[in-house]
Amino acid sequence: MASTDLARLDGQSALVTGASSGIGRASAMALAAAGASVAVNYRGSPDEAEEVVAEIEKAGGRAIAVQADVSKEDEVIAMFGEAEDRLGPLDIVMSNAGIQKDAAIGEMSLDDWNAVISVNLTGSFLVGREAIKRFRAKGRRSGVSRALGKLVFDSSVHQVIPWAFHVNYAASKGGIHLLMRSLAQEVAEEGIRVNAVAPGAIATGINVEEREEDASGIKKLIPYGRIGDPEDIGRIVAWLVSDAADYIVGQTIFADGGMSLYPGFRGNG
Ligand code: NAD
Repeated sequence: MASTDLARLDGQSALVTGASSGIGRASAMALAAAGASVAVNYRGSPDEAEEVVAEIEKAGGRAIAVQADVSKEDEVIAMFGEAEDRLGPLDIVMSNAGIQKDAAIGEMSLDDWNAVISVNLTGSFLVGREAIKRFRAKGRRSGVSRALGKLVFDSSVHQVIPWAFHVNYAASKGGIHLLMRSLAQEVAEEGIRVNAVAPGAIATGINVEEREEDASGIKKLIPYGRIGDPEDIGRIVAWLVSDAADYIVGQTIFADGGMSLYPGFRGNG
């Protein structure tokens, strides 16, 4: 029975990549709290992913852990197969897994470049492509959601803000921006909604060194004055894939405490 609360996700199944930590973890928890069954993807050791599963189950939800390196085509396809075998057809996919390998341009190796593009951009392509195929194969399930499927990419403010010494990362997120918009345009007529979230500085493992080295410097870039929590993003993802946001198609929701307002210009630049 479908809930009358448009923000609920009861009866739906979701897959979140890179969900054993940080924003992916918080998104998996938020999706589960809204009623979805969630496949928690991890790349290496299952321990952290199993902890996320246990937390979701403790709160009365349903979750499973599924292994895959999102940059590997065969592993992505197998992950979707396992998730659907165990949870049923997927309604929601969040492509979240991402890495940074920072270096000045003269020191950035081809391996550093390829690693970031492979996980962040090629991984988004592989996960996005498989999500669309699975949504199509599933068909509409009446009373569950207005959309046939919902796909969310985890981008970054750096899809628009240039980032010196991080050209591989910024290029990957700029790529996700037009991957998302082009794909949204391609599949919207089938009832599939493709969108993105663009977090600013969120306290996770990906930036722990930057935050330890220069927390006050980062805060100066955030007009709202605080570094974000993973839950700030998780809540938005759960809402964005719900029927409460059913008319949002091909958009990036910036959640950055105002970082993309170019705060350096506040005092006349
Ligand atoms: P995180 O390091 O906690 O999460 C990244 C996750 O991706 C980890 O669980 C990691 O195991 C997983 N992962 C890495 N490579 C993988 C692969 N090949 N296959 C499967 N999983 C893989 O950091 P986070 O901040 O939560 O990052 C999540 C996403 O959020 C990333 O795409 C990142 O670019 C984006 N983001 C983060 C911030 C921030 O400030 N933390 C800001 C903007 C965007």
